[in-house]
Amino acid sequence: MSSQSDSGDDGRTAIRQRHHDTADEVLPDRTGLYVGGEFVAADAGETFDTLDPTTGEVLESVARGREADVDRAVEVAWSAFDSTWADYSAGRRQQVLTEIADIIEEHVDELARLETLDNGKPVSEATIDIRGAAEQFRYFAGLVRENPGETMSEGSRYGQVIKEPYGVVGQVIPWNFPLMMASWKLAPALAAGNCSVLKPAEETPLSALRLAELIDEIVPDGVVNVVPGYGEEAGAAVTGHPDVRKVAFTGSTAVGKQVMKSAADTVTDVTLELGGKSPVVVFPDVDVEKAVSLVSSAIFYNTGECCEAGSRLFVHEEVAADVLEGLAAAVEDMTIGDPLDEATDLGPKVSGEQVDRTLEYLESARDDGGEFLVGGGRPDDESLADGCYVRPTLVEGLDHGSAAVQEEIFGPVLTVFRWDDYDEMIELANDVDYGLAGGVITDDITQANTTARDIEAGYIWINSYHDLIPGLPFGGYKESGIGRELGAETLEHYRQTKTINLSLR
Ligand code: NDP
Repeated sequence: MSSQSDSGDDGRTAIRQRHHDTADEVLPDRTGLYVGGEFVAADAGETFDTLDPTTGEVLESVARGREADVDRAVEVAWSAFDSTWADYSAGRRQQVLTEIADIIEEHVDELARLETLDNGKPVSEATIDIRGAAEQFRYFAGLVRENPGETMSEGSRYGQVIKEPYGVVGQVIPWNFPLMMASWKLAPALAAGNCSVLKPAEETPLSALRLAELIDEIVPDGVVNVVPGYGEEAGAAVTGHPDVRKVAFTGSTAVGKQVMKSAADTVTDVTLELGGKSPVVVFPDVDVEKAVSLVSSAIFYNTGECCEAGSRLFVHEEVAADVLEGLAAAVEDMTIGDPLDEATDLGPKVSGEQVDRTLEYLESARDDGGEFLVGGGRPDDESLADGCYVRPTLVEGLDHGSAAVQEEIFGPVLTVFRWDDYDEMIELANDVDYGLAGGVITDDITQANTTARDIEAGYIWINSYHDLIPGLPFGGYKESGIGRELGAETLEHYRQTKTINLSLR
């Protein structure tokens, strides 16, 4: 594992300086709540700090929304829906979504660097996120006019079945892909004709606020509202609000369960995109170099902070030694460093809390007899001492029932299992509460398809990983969620069915 930074104190100073300079260029001017087309202070006048996980320094103070602020945002959103947005034709909504995509693309570089400051992800990966966010708006702009109805005629009855928007939807997103998650939520909601109250994660509120600034001239006031704050305050107020007619949540399974329970009180429709503990299966026929590259990207992309991360490797005995040797070498070759540097492969995690969480899992893996093939703690490099870094880690020898194997670590930690009996391997691959994704690596396409069907998960990659294409629905089986994003069916999650039964007599 290498670092391209200067060593020690010089390296720390250089990183800090680069982050201060970038902050001067890209931090948004307005960090209030975005409600009704204006940036306003929180009702209680409170703020919270968002930190740069690379330097540990405060980036910005952001308005801390609470229940009163969410109430106001929901009221304003309904008013925008009733007075304006519900009357927008599909063509006008399509235009709005297209313009949002355009303006994001015009600001890719700025938004990517902002995301890197707030989240810590390498700027090369942040750039992919921002382009992906624009693509979401473009994809759903294309689908806006897809609103087919049905009619039925029977004797003296004439029936119409039409789809209507919910009105106001509540959307809560996590910190791992901040702007991309905002786009996954906002694009289909607006396309279907809804107004939104969006709560970004407390760790990464800045790109959603900057997006609000950018789209202010494009979207009518009150159609998009952004209320930053803490999950138990602003988040719970959004997901439990009696006038929010649909809730869309992405985050941990634990909180997703709470969201679903609170939605039950108001019988509100919910979609949930939750955690994962996805298997990647390597067959003996693989090209080892290609397998190493895919497995490495499956777990280490975005510092392992991906719900779909391929965090359990099942590698066939025949190629296990070569693949593991290749993976260990790949880890040694990774550049861990300042995420603003284009050459960096692995940046810091999003927060000190997330570092502690990952280190606790490493500790439990050690206690459970895990053998660390590489990694296993924080990097020694003094120039990275201010940041929330964890070394990429490979652990073998764990019982499949142990916590580090069963639970979502959300860090750069791969647990490794060797197999030679297919049925036993599939049984283990499915032996988790999650079912979000999976990977299959083999050139035997019949085998690949069989295994794709045998893995209980909502999204399977064969000979690739992470690439999510608009039009191919993404979402989980089992405790990984309810509903699908990225696909045409996503629009249906933001519409309700109305039947009009007309008597002709
Ligand atoms: P959370 O599930 O707590 O956070 C996701 C979002 O939900 C954030 O905006 C959060 O607010 C909000 N939230 C928190 N509590 C509530 C609540 N009671 N009602 C409504 N909204 C709420 O994830 P964490 O950030 O705590 O991360 C913990 C673990 O969750 C990670 O280590 C990872 O394992 C998993 N995770 C999975 C994600 C995925 O995409 N599958 C994404 C993020 C985390 P805020 O954080 O602002 O307080």
